[in-house]
Amino acid sequence: MQIIHHGAVNGVTGSCHQLDVNNYNNNSHNHGNGNNISSYLIDCGLFQGAETAGKSSADQLQITFDIQHIKALIITHCHIDHVGRIPYLLAAGFNQPIYATTATAALLPLVIEDALKVGVTRDPKLIQACINRLKKLLVPVDYGQWITLPINIPTAISSTESATEMDSASSIEKTTTEPATISSTENTEDISKETIVTPAIYHKAKLKFKPAGHILGSAYVEIDLSGPSGNHRVVFSGDLGATYAPLLASPKSPYRADTLVIESTYGDKNHQGRKERSKQLKNIIESAVKDNGVVLIPAFSIGRTQELLYEFEHIIHRNKHNPVWENIDIIVDSPMAANFTQKYRQFKTLWDNEAKGKLAQGRHPLYFNQLITIDSHQDHLSVINYLDSTHKPAIIIAASGMCTGGRITNYLARFLPIPTTDILFVGYQAQGTTGRDIQTYGPQGGYVYINELKIDIKAAIHTISGYSAHADQHNLINFVKRMHHKPSHIRIVHGDNEAKQALAKEYRKMLPEAEIVIGKE
Ligand SMILES: [Zn+2]
Ligand SMILES: [Zn+2]
Repeated sequence: MQIIHHGAVNGVTGSCHQLDVNNYNNNSHNHGNGNNISSYLIDCGLFQGAETAGKSSADQLQITFDIQHIKALIITHCHIDHVGRIPYLLAAGFNQPIYATTATAALLPLVIEDALKVGVTRDPKLIQACINRLKKLLVPVDYGQWITLPINIPTAISSTESATEMDSASSIEKTTTEPATISSTENTEDISKETIVTPAIYHKAKLKFKPAGHILGSAYVEIDLSGPSGNHRVVFSGDLGATYAPLLASPKSPYRADTLVIESTYGDKNHQGRKERSKQLKNIIESAVKDNGVVLIPAFSIGRTQELLYEFEHIIHRNKHNPVWENIDIIVDSPMAANFTQKYRQFKTLWDNEAKGKLAQGRHPLYFNQLITIDSHQDHLSVINYLDSTHKPAIIIAASGMCTGGRITNYLARFLPIPTTDILFVGYQAQGTTGRDIQTYGPQGGYVYINELKIDIKAAIHTISGYSAHADQHNLINFVKRMHHKPSHIRIVHGDNEAKQALAKEYRKMLPEAEIVIGKE
């Protein structure tokens, strides 16, 4: 077995991992042509921000790896940096099942349609053809249910033979591949190019999704491999949610993992507490609207937008006679976000107990009177002009979450140079994104380029970390600590270098016997 990465190893975007099973060359039976191998792709996401640097645009998008042995695509959740390369995978001829949770399967066609419209084509026929293909391959799976994955069973080997084959296969591999072990010294170069060598042949592979608490439908993936020599459980974390994230319950650790591939977005940081962030959000908004300026909140249309609506409903509910909260317009300028909010309502069985409790009291956690949703592009432009000319305070929530495109960029271009504007970041801003540039240069009175125009930043810049949709260091440590059967191999992906190193250090402390490596392309 081996795991290779086609993204999310030099940063947080472009998630795409490949699990190869029975990847030995069995010369005597298959003439070394690799016929035994079965591969599974976990996510197929787009690169974003600086993580596209050094890659030609073709490389970022095209499927540059061999897909002939890939038996299935498994989707952890439908953020674009986890699913955005699916149209290219289909274009490359991929024709195997795509497994996703039921909610993800419901969201995915909307996400892909939007991605195609924004980045590829406006031709409705092409878009429809792609979506039809996707829907045909999609297999919705409920949380907690085991599903058997297609696998090539090495039938040429009898069970007595297979033991010898296995041993020899493993000993050959062990001597010919780079050692995957990492010494615990800090400055050792991390090696993981090749991978985990497991001396085993597997006849069965099954898959289970468990709630990840990151966005609606999000899951971590358990893959159980079994064969004559026993079982091996591989867990891919996908993106894990934080404890006390609004709306969704935090993830519970798996019972067992032998090999764990885990994200590390906040591997070196801990989030603010829940009360603190809610208070901070309220305070920032209250002081921001005093000067009749706008508050711009860049937010992913899935997940972050709904969490913000949930928090605003909560604040409004608790501040019924406060004129700021009675009168403020909260504008969601995104037709996609409105669609996704609809899906969040549809799947309310997946909400956490607190959110369900509010429903039971007759509240509408994703809806309130002050909420305005903007649909058409014409209305979008009108709102910008209206707000600019009337100097009426308003909160605007728009995508993209890292300001790399979408309607938020039109707001930023217009309002960043105005000192009464406040920009509020509530999500992770990857290196090289416009969002990260505003965070970095804004407080020094710098500038950014938006749509190729140089825009001075006069607006006040705020960041609240507590709303992260990602587990923090503490959560990531607990995810492993609370497993009954802990992994002997951990592969850290999906994070900046400092975050990965810091998390690796913690895991090495917790599991001195385990092999802890940092994923490399
Ligand atoms: Zn995500
Ligand atoms: Zn991610």
